[in-house]
Amino acid sequence: METILIIDDSFFNIKLLKDILQKDYNIIYANQGEKGLEIAKAMQPSLILLDIEMPGLNGFQVMERLQAAKETQQIPVVFLTGVDDTATEEKAFFCGAVDYIRKPFCCNVVCARVRTHINMFRYRKMLETQMYIDVLTGLYTRKHCIDYINKQWKRSIEEGLPFSLGIADIDFFKSVNDTYGHQEGDRVLSAVANLMKNAMPEENDYIARMGGEEFYLIIIGESRAKAAEIMENVCNAVGKESVCQVGGNSEESISVTISIGGSTIIPCERDSAEAFTAIADKMLYEAKGNGRNRVVWL
Ligand code: GH3
Ligand code: MG
Ligand code: MG
Ligand code: MG
Repeated sequence: METILIIDDSFFNIKLLKDILQKDYNIIYANQGEKGLEIAKAMQPSLILLDIEMPGLNGFQVMERLQAAKETQQIPVVFLTGVDDTATEEKAFFCGAVDYIRKPFCCNVVCARVRTHINMFRYRKMLETQMYIDVLTGLYTRKHCIDYINKQWKRSIEEGLPFSLGIADIDFFKSVNDTYGHQEGDRVLSAVANLMKNAMPEENDYIARMGGEEFYLIIIGESRAKAAEIMENVCNAVGKESVCQVGGNSEESISVTISIGGSTIIPCERDSAEAFTAIADKMLYEAKGNGRNRVVWL
């Protein structure tokens, strides 16, 4: 059941809304803006119904703070208010509200509009998940990774942080498919993804599947030596495991290794992420050429 947060200083309004919505939604509420913000962050509702005139923070101030925080900026907000003038309505939409409902309201209309916004939010979430999370491995997708690189590259330039990129590729993966079939290949892929993820430090563990059996591992803020050490750990973690039992049968298991090429840079304005990626790719090529199951770090 989706959760709706009502922020309104009038308990009468809260009760009224709760009565008409609670059979379809989980209703939570706050009678002041500051509390509402806290609850929104903690509970991540699918919709916020926000009053404008409240003591303390008013609706517009709450809206501004919701938009400023990355945990809450994606939550749709409907202004529900007794303020009855077009300028206020215009301002509400300008601030990013998805809808504006005037009090006193018709219950059926509120229900219908709420349903529309909840459905749109669900749909958006589903699309985002499909776009950003790889179905097979649960890792980030190529699209997510490209956005992430652009953002982190800029941040590294601004803050003078080391940026490390490792490109990992499963060794002789074609022969896994050829020997055991594509379905087993898929299971191996997903097992390798898990092993890599678990071998990355938790607070710094960005991995994306860029396509096929190739992965990007990104570490921000660690020295070249530390990044290389992490990559060694990832490589070893995969290499020492039998990653998958054939057909779920414990008799025979599949072992694979990975090769990783990469580098660390503290980028400046004239450096490009594309050129840096090409270097990492070249290191991967060297790792493959030097016998695979190894890390080559520049
Ligand atoms: P190398 O050590 O040089 O990387 O050898 P390789 O066999 O891994 O390299 P190659 O690029 O020739 O083969 C990659 C194989 O990965 C080919 C393709 O069938 C397989 N592959 C790519 N994506 C998937 C997938 O989603 N599922 C499965 N099962 N196989 C995939
Ligand atoms: Mg009020
Ligand atoms: Mg390969
Ligand atoms: Mg490959």
